[in-house]
Amino acid sequence: MGTITNNLQALRASLPEGVALVAVSKFHPVEALQEAYAAGQRLFGESRAQELVKKRGEMPEDVAWHFIGPLQSNKVKEIVPFVSLIQSVDSEKLLLEIEKQAARLERPVRVLLEIHVAREETKHGFTPDECRALLDRVGSLPHTQIAGLMGMATLTDDEAEIRREFRTLRALFDELRGNRPATPFDILSMGMSHDYQIAIEEGSTMIRVGTHIFGEREY
Ligand SMILES: *Cc1c(COP(=O)(O)O)cnc(C)c1O
Repeated sequence: MGTITNNLQALRASLPEGVALVAVSKFHPVEALQEAYAAGQRLFGESRAQELVKKRGEMPEDVAWHFIGPLQSNKVKEIVPFVSLIQSVDSEKLLLEIEKQAARLERPVRVLLEIHVAREETKHGFTPDECRALLDRVGSLPHTQIAGLMGMATLTDDEAEIRREFRTLRALFDELRGNRPATPFDILSMGMSHDYQIAIEEGSTMIRVGTHIFGEREY
C-alpha cells in the first residue's frame, strides 16, 4: 500500500463523525490524486483555477472539487461550470461575479465566506464585522448559496493562539447561522495539517489537509 493510502486511512480513522475531509492536492501530480481516489477519497481542494481545470479533466467525473485559494474575478467563469464549493470568497466583488456567472449558466453554486482571524496581515478574508455587514447587504442571492465560513489560523506553535482564533470563527459561525435560519448555513471549514486537531476540538465541520496526506509540496 502506498504512503498516501496509509496517510488517508489513518487520518480518516481518527476523524469524528460529521467532519468532512478535503484532500488538498495543489501542486501535487495527478498520480497522487489518483492514489487518493483509489483509496476512496472523492473530495479534493485546489488553489489555482488553471491547475484545477487541468486536473479535473484527468480525474473521474465523481470527484467533488473545492476551490480554496485566492480567486481573481476573471477566473471565476472557468470554475463555476463544475466546482462543488468555492471556499475562499474574500470580497463582495468576487461574490457578485460568482453570482453573475452562476446566473449565466443557471447553475447553483455554493460558497463559503473567508474570515480573517489570523495575526498575519498577508492572509485574506473579511473581518467579522465586514462579514456581518456583507450578509446584511446582500441577504441571499438567487444562484449563489452562502453555505458557511472558512478560515485559517496564524501559523504558529502557540496552541492557545490557534485555539483562540478557531473559537472566534466558531462563535461567528454560530451567530450567523442563528440569523439565517431559512438557508442552509452549515459548513465551518477550519483546520489544516498542523492544526486540524485543534480545529476539530473547536467545532470544525470540514478540514482541509494537504501535507499530512500527500507530503511536502514542491513549488
Ligand atoms: C494549502 C492549503 C491548505 C492545506 O495546507 P496543509 O498545511 O498542506 O495541510 C489548506 N487550506 C488552504 C486555504 C490552503 O491554501
